[in-house]
Amino acid sequence: MVVVFERITMNRNIQCAHCGCRFEPNPRVKNQSCCSQKDCQRARKRKWRKAKLVSDPDYKANQRDCQRE
Ligand SMILES: [Zn+2]
Repeated sequence: MVVVFERITMNRNIQCAHCGCRFEPNPRVKNQSCCSQKDCQRARKRKWRKAKLVSDPDYKANQRDCQRE
């Protein structure tokens, strides 16, 4: 019974990858890893952008084009 209860709790609450607090993820957001605090959202975006720049050269080129215009 304890195991079942823990599994349910863990499914509902996940740990923020940035500040480490536990929060209930938004069901509309897939693979949510950070809570809704501004700092955490900003860190998540920065991390995502950094990974995107490394993995996707086209994205980098697009960003450069956007900034120029
Ligand atoms: Zn957080």
